[in-house]
Amino acid sequence: MTHDDILKAAGLTKDELSGGTLAVHSPIDGAEVARVHETDPADMPRVIAKAQEAFKAWRTVPAPRRGELVRLLGEELRAAKEELGAVVTLEAGKITSEGLGEVQEMIDICDFAVGLSRQIYGLTIASERPGHRMMETWHPLGPCAIITAFNFPVAVWCWNTALALVCGDPVIWKPSEKTPLTAIATMKIMDRALKRFGDAPEGLCQLVIGGPAIGEALVSSKDVPIVSATGSTRMGGIVGPKVSARWGRPILELGGNNAMIVAPSADLDMAVRAIVFSAVGTAGQRCTTLRRLIAHTSIKDDLVAKLTKAYASLPIGDPRKGTTLVGPLIDHASRDRMQAALEKAKSEGGTVHGGKVVAEGVPQGGAYVTPAIAEMPEQTDTVRTETFAPILYVMGYETLDEAIAIQNDVPQGLSSCIFTLNMREAEAFLSAAGSDCGIANVNIGPSGAEIGGAFGGEKETGGGRESGSDAWKGYMRRQTNTINYSAQLPLAQGVKFDF
Ligand code: NAD
Repeated sequence: MTHDDILKAAGLTKDELSGGTLAVHSPIDGAEVARVHETDPADMPRVIAKAQEAFKAWRTVPAPRRGELVRLLGEELRAAKEELGAVVTLEAGKITSEGLGEVQEMIDICDFAVGLSRQIYGLTIASERPGHRMMETWHPLGPCAIITAFNFPVAVWCWNTALALVCGDPVIWKPSEKTPLTAIATMKIMDRALKRFGDAPEGLCQLVIGGPAIGEALVSSKDVPIVSATGSTRMGGIVGPKVSARWGRPILELGGNNAMIVAPSADLDMAVRAIVFSAVGTAGQRCTTLRRLIAHTSIKDDLVAKLTKAYASLPIGDPRKGTTLVGPLIDHASRDRMQAALEKAKSEGGTVHGGKVVAEGVPQGGAYVTPAIAEMPEQTDTVRTETFAPILYVMGYETLDEAIAIQNDVPQGLSSCIFTLNMREAEAFLSAAGSDCGIANVNIGPSGAEIGGAFGGEKETGGGRESGSDAWKGYMRRQTNTINYSAQLPLAQGVKFDF
């Protein structure tokens, strides 16, 4: 299928694809595939006002009925999975199965949110006063801005939207300026669900397109109480303080620098499979990509030998081909940053395997590379920095305490894991003195989280949580209620105030 056929199959019209100011390139071959119309920053107050109007109506719709809209969205996504997955591949360069996997993740969170719509539970709390009852109620909070990164162009919108909608909040989506087409295609699917639903308020789900200036309008508006922003730590460092300064609620999902500790007892074959998937999947462009391998010195050389052999057999190229496992980087600037990081690693004493630019057997115009393994003498500044490309830094350790210290000694705190068959080591890694990350796994790589758990990380990863568990609470306001059904008015803490 040509690029145009893929976009046509997803329902994008000529008008939507041309005549605009935002040029969209496919990372597959660098071709310009569209010129999309950007939202005028002057229109943003109107967009936000529409969301506020929608909120007034949506917050009073019973949550299970709100869940019905998300159920329909899940149905429409199932029907459009192939078409939307193909646009993800075209615009973000993900291999076909990962493009489809991203849409599956959207379907999964819809299922989760439908169940949640009947489980928005508060508490009843024992009151110290006779004839009194206390409880906790969860109310919708208001419009939720969703700012997304290029590397999960649709799933992150759905993680937020499915929860926000059942929680009673309208959403305004600002996708990455690198991936507006997947967003337009997704909104068509959402529109079909809204049509079938029937009486949802206008402005419940809106899309705005553009760069940071459009995001900024959402970030600085006091009429947008929730700003869920996914992207670089640099972006979060600007967005987070701005939202907090106006007393809004930021949900920040920022960069990671994820590690795996491989202990002497580890099942090395399993570890190798986990390492290769999590270090080179999505061409190293996942927030949870494995970037640091901390291997016990007794097995490190063996492990590196197995990995370099596995890396040599990886099919690199056109992500639309069924056999490809490593597709392109998002653009040439990203490839240049990878090359610069590898040069810096070498200057810090690193030995680099791979990391070469691939020009043959791949579509011309794309930024293709061989994934790199860099053996490092220690955890240097380069290792502590997230370079959004397939570079795996390898370091050795002697004791588990040392390994955990290396694992935690980076500014980011998203995902982590240990491979070991030793129960004491596994439990120590998961304990309060173990990994400091939002995600810590045993005998599973750091990437590819399921939607059932809360997703997010600590430190410079931003502290936000999305997706499963009780992440829904981030989209609601908590109200503590005390009800007096007695004929007395006793005060708490035994205070007397008689007059
Ligand atoms: P990016 O920070 O360049 O852009 C992300 C989004 O923020 C885009 O929509 C962009 O337009 C917007 N933005 C940038 N500056 C802004 C500003 N000042 N105000 C408002 N909006 C602004 O990130 P990227 O290159 O698209 O994505 C890669 C990064 O995202 C990596 O660091 C990766 O780890 C991170 N990421 C994190 C998660 C997570 O869940 N923790 C998930 C995916 C990606």
